[in-house]
Amino acid sequence: MRPRDRLRIAMQKSGRLTEPAQDLLTRCGFTFRQSRDKLFCFGEGEPVDLLLVRDDDIPGLIAQGVCDLGIVGRNVLNEYELTTGRDDAVALAEWRGLGFGRCRLSLAVPQELDYAGVADLAGKRIATSYPGLLGRWLRERGIDAGVVTLAGSVEIAPRLGTADAICDLVQSGGTLLANQLREADVVLESEALLVGPRTLPADERGDLVELLLKRIDGVIQVRESRLLLLQTSRGALEAVTRLLPGGPQPTLLPLAGQPDQVMLQALCAGEVSWRQLEEIKKAGAREMFVLPVERMLA
Ligand code: ATP
Ligand code: MG
Repeated sequence: MRPRDRLRIAMQKSGRLTEPAQDLLTRCGFTFRQSRDKLFCFGEGEPVDLLLVRDDDIPGLIAQGVCDLGIVGRNVLNEYELTTGRDDAVALAEWRGLGFGRCRLSLAVPQELDYAGVADLAGKRIATSYPGLLGRWLRERGIDAGVVTLAGSVEIAPRLGTADAICDLVQSGGTLLANQLREADVVLESEALLVGPRTLPADERGDLVELLLKRIDGVIQVRESRLLLLQTSRGALEAVTRLLPGGPQPTLLPLAGQPDQVMLQALCAGEVSWRQLEEIKKAGAREMFVLPVERMLA
């Protein structure tokens, strides 16, 4: 492999992860220009490029050193690890959970089939695109069932008579319902991950990964944070503070000409609801503002 001085991140070319992954990198301050063949996006500021591929290829591209990082679902990463001989490949790590692309790899059975527990799967045929994950799950539970590997349209296998149950990705459950199936057990909880080799490259790319990780942490924290501003009297301060949603210690600022009054500034992890605001107000707060946070660098 030729040495590279630019960081290369593998991303899904077109699919559910494409837009949120691109949005994440934009929020991290990276801008890109797409190549004519639409295979690459070249970084315009930082030396960070994107390689646009099918999501299934992402773990392999990182393991082979073609890319330094990738954005891919845990389902794809774990299936790769379970089904690929990794003699010459680099061990991969989940660097960050990114909070989008959430879904479950679930077992589903025809609605009319009785399912009291995993033992009911013994001797059954289960269709899936995830033979590695399903096989491990069945083995761990000591269940001997047939695994029918299909590349796609897994949900129609029971109707076609090629399987008794399926193991597939579920988000809302709408597809299962449309195919007269019901979710019976969860095999894996998944979300999009930032994946990379367990050890960072020892050159400038390692520094770029660290920069990216810090910015991603900031973006994730910001996505979930609100800044709460309010005024209160020093007397009510303790009661008000007790009601504040979780977050770091609030900051107190004096109010000019009003020695017994303070302004309080608190960073809250997550939404602040009307009900919470009303409770805090009852405890003695006024002039309350809840503001979204634009950027954060700890
Ligand atoms: P590609 O052409 O890149 O192989 P794909 O058809 O395998 O695309 P998508 O359907 O775009 O992939 O899904 C990409 C990822 O999105 C999945 O691997 C999974 O991690 C996540 N995902 C979230 N919800 C769902 C869902 N309801 N069905 C399938 N995948 C989902
Ligand atoms: Mg795929």
